[in-house]
Amino acid sequence: MKAILVSRHGGPEVLEYTDVEAPTPSKSQLLIDVTYAGINYIDTYFRSGTYPQEVPYIPGSEGCGRVVHDPLGEIAEGTLVAWNRGPGSYAEQVVVDRGRVVAVPEGVSEPVAASMLLQGMTSHYLVESVYPVTDETSLVVTAGAGGVGLMLTQMAAAKGARVFSVVSSAEKEALAAEAGATQVFRYGDDLAAQIKEANGGEGVDVVFDGVGADTFDFALEVCRPRGMVASFGSASGDVPPFSIQQLNRAGSLFLTRPKLDDYTATDDEFRMRAQAVARAVEEGTLSIRIHPPYPLPEARKAHEDLQARKTTGSVVLEVQR
Ligand code: NDP
Repeated sequence: MKAILVSRHGGPEVLEYTDVEAPTPSKSQLLIDVTYAGINYIDTYFRSGTYPQEVPYIPGSEGCGRVVHDPLGEIAEGTLVAWNRGPGSYAEQVVVDRGRVVAVPEGVSEPVAASMLLQGMTSHYLVESVYPVTDETSLVVTAGAGGVGLMLTQMAAAKGARVFSVVSSAEKEALAAEAGATQVFRYGDDLAAQIKEANGGEGVDVVFDGVGADTFDFALEVCRPRGMVASFGSASGDVPPFSIQQLNRAGSLFLTRPKLDDYTATDDEFRMRAQAVARAVEEGTLSIRIHPPYPLPEARKAHEDLQARKTTGSVVLEVQR
């Protein structure tokens, strides 16, 4: 089968379109023909070696496709499913644990299904479990027009929260506002002061930050005393080591560095979040913006654009139709 293979760590140039052997499912797995694979920022950390990953490997963990073989015969051939924990998803076929797939609801497009789970469930655990957001919450979302950013903004706005979104361009500003942000800001020296002013002179209750190194100090500054910083990503690089006294000085802040795996720790928790996201997409309360899809052989260009901040919303590879 055709796939993207990474044989050494590095930049987008190490993503090689080539022939590899198709995978074989164990009894606990399903064999799936991939139609679209979701691209996530975390894929770039594995590719570069920032996160541990043995080579050679096929990148990608989420997608959408049709079941071609269930060794237990429980799931009908041709069933359209989505998943977020299927290592090797940048390929024509993938094997996924049977407890970690969700049926794609009628009327949901395949590119949307391919990108709804990882970013959707991340947004879900952030607003439901890390900091339960209500109509009294004020919050900041950085990278507000990205894949997670747009979904997180919609979920928080739907709860009636005041959402202050931070983005880097006019196009992204419009998208964040459309997603329901109360007010959208650009990066700048007095960003924390501007947001506090917009929040009635107070710091916000919680900062959801996927940018990392470049925004960590801002996140501490913009939070109210006893508020929370949820640092869930490192698009600009890892937050450098720091003294916990900074949390004291910033006002007895809570800091967490969460990850999706820990908030979908069991098949039941995965199902609860995956079904909530799939239902919201089906009902139209969660709208997923897809950046124009890249064909599988152009995975390299997709990574380049994602890391150059050129994409908006969710990024997908078209694998086969
Ligand atoms: P995005 O679509 O949000 O793309 C990244 C965005 O980060 C860019 O578009 C850009 O938006 C912003 N950014 C700011 N500084 C930089 C920089 N120096 N280089 C590149 N981008 C920068 O990606 P995802 O939605 O896939 O992921 C967002 C974040 O969430 C990532 O850090 C990812 O690792 C994290 N994540 C964490 C999970 C978890 O469970 N912990 C799960 C899923 C994602 P702008 O131009 O507006 O600044």
